[in-house]
Amino acid sequence: MEIGPVTTSAPPNDAPVILWFRRDLRLSDNPALSRAMSSGRPVVPVYIHDEGSQVRRSGAASLWWLDRSLRALAADLTDRGAPLILRRGNAEAKLRGLIAETGATTVVMNRLFEPDARERDAALAHDLKVEGIDCQGFNGTLLATPGTVLNGSGRPYRVFTPFLKALLATTTEPTLSPAPNRIVCPQGLASERLADWVLSPTQPDWSTGFEGVPGEAGAVAAFTAFLDEGLADYCDGRDIPARSATSRLSAHLHFGEISPWRVVIGARRAAHVGTVSADEVSKFVAELGWRDFSAHLLHAFPYMAERAFRPEFGTLPWRSDPGGLKAWQTGQTGFPIVDAGMRQLWTTGWMHNRVRMIVASFLVKDLLIDWREGEAWFRDTLVDADLASNVQNWQWVAGCGADAAPYFRIFNPVTQGQKFDADGRYVRRWVPELQAVPDRWLQAPWTAPDEVLLQAGIELGRDYPFPVVDHAAARLRALDALKTVSRPGS
Ligand code: FAD
Repeated sequence: MEIGPVTTSAPPNDAPVILWFRRDLRLSDNPALSRAMSSGRPVVPVYIHDEGSQVRRSGAASLWWLDRSLRALAADLTDRGAPLILRRGNAEAKLRGLIAETGATTVVMNRLFEPDARERDAALAHDLKVEGIDCQGFNGTLLATPGTVLNGSGRPYRVFTPFLKALLATTTEPTLSPAPNRIVCPQGLASERLADWVLSPTQPDWSTGFEGVPGEAGAVAAFTAFLDEGLADYCDGRDIPARSATSRLSAHLHFGEISPWRVVIGARRAAHVGTVSADEVSKFVAELGWRDFSAHLLHAFPYMAERAFRPEFGTLPWRSDPGGLKAWQTGQTGFPIVDAGMRQLWTTGWMHNRVRMIVASFLVKDLLIDWREGEAWFRDTLVDADLASNVQNWQWVAGCGADAAPYFRIFNPVTQGQKFDADGRYVRRWVPELQAVPDRWLQAPWTAPDEVLLQAGIELGRDYPFPVVDHAAARLRALDALKTVSRPGS
């Protein structure tokens, strides 16, 4: 059973409503919260940290974000008179405990659409319903509910452009709802202490360079800054990693600190009042469309989380190369744009989209390492790690996804660096040992004459690695590997 949309009206009693927060850590534009408030009954806001369930665990970097986001949510709730009840353990057991303690007869939540979470929630809703507890689920995280944007034959789209067209044609802007001023919650409910969950790293604390201000206020501030400074230059600027022309909303959106509709409506309004051109807004909304597309695909094809969307890629002979994988993870491949990206990721918990594409291509094509290795590393190190977006994008780069880049299109990491980091600002920031290498050789330092390297204070192999592969040879190796992929129907 899926947790369906609301059909029932509130039972005529004073039993509290449990508001189960998951990845909707905000008070405005929150359909589950609106529903709880409209019941007129006391509300019990709870967050359950369920590490042991079958639902995929969050990576270390995203736990860092979650820690701060929960703190911000708890403070926002306290301002309105309600605590955030924290419980750790099996979600069903903890919910049942809270139901018994409070006498609640209704649980409201914003739905999660990943396969594991969906299964868990459906079973839970079914069991509770049998016992007379009403479970109501809403879409508070995506522009459209997965399963509702279908092609003329009633099937899910596999190609992005028609999906986006249908998404924009079939959805209407919702009315945005402000955060409530006051939330009435029963007194005396026990809560665990967030600090005891130790979600952030301590020894060692590798998060000191992490960027962003988790929480709803941080999300709104990031979006406002983007509307003021980034959106007007989005079409061109979004591909230049040294510029701040993208919104940096990905982790905020992943944790539901801002609703995607609020972002779309805000961007459209900027075009409407003429502060930015409609083209910039369309491009930006299309990127949000990729987020929905990823979630809708995973919902329709749950096996994508583990396996290639295109099954014929199951025969691709990936290499086992622990040394190459380590060099990639630690930003020591000898290709400056790749190393810059991997170091930005490690240091800040985020990486620019263009560079994500370059480093991903390098792993799956130059090193011929399985995309799942890269997906797992990103899952652990990105603060915005999101199962659907991560899997979809890795498969897009690897060529095995829906509407993917053709496998034979292999990024050249040197020319990509020259094109998108022409002045070398990005590489010099993240690979400071190459600071003094002139632009002409910066993206391929091994091609620089000895005297140039000497003058830049660089000895390859000592201060910065030689390239771990020869790109031209690696490209041919990848194309050879592709020939072994069985064609569908052959
Ligand atoms: P903006 O350019 O400002 O875009 C606005 C929003 O649109 C983003 O916040 C994001 O929610 C969404 N978006 C933009 N591009 C994409 C895209 N290609 N796919 C899906 N949604 C998109 N994004 C994640 O949120 N989580 C991931 O785990 C993730 N893994 C990725 C792995 C690879 C290999 C690649 C190539 C991309 C991945 N992305 C992922 C997509 C994209 O890189 C980030 O969403 C983007 O860089 C976030 O920066 P931003 O918020 O400034 O983006």
